[in-house]
Amino acid sequence: MNDTYIAEYVVARSTATMVRSQLRIEDSRVAIAAVRRRCWHTIAGGGPDAEAPSAHLRARVRLLVNPNEIPRIFSGYCTESKPCDICSQQLLVGKTEYEVGFSALTVRLDADCFALWQEEMLRTAKQPRR
Ligand SMILES: [Zn+2]
Repeated sequence: MNDTYIAEYVVARSTATMVRSQLRIEDSRVAIAAVRRRCWHTIAGGGPDAEAPSAHLRARVRLLVNPNEIPRIFSGYCTESKPCDICSQQLLVGKTEYEVGFSALTVRLDADCFALWQEEMLRTAKQPRR
């Protein structure tokens, strides 16, 4: 082994570690955002269902749950104001937005609708296959 080989090895390992760390940070942000949405709903509720998503929103979210496909998920800060594809609320510039991509469809969601989508995905995954 020479010094150049060792240096290249260290750089490659460091780069791989940085990429894994960035992916973990992004996963953590998504998980934290989902938990915060649920906590806020519990604390802010004026009644048992005051903050619960409407059946209409859940029905729209269920249309985006496909147990046979693993979607591509990206999150980031919104750079252009546009409506959420589930609830039609405006995604505000600078707020976190989520992009969920399936083979035939890509949707952009706000954090509340993304949390709802995750809940429906988990509920579907826990159900026995028919
Ligand atoms: Zn929404």
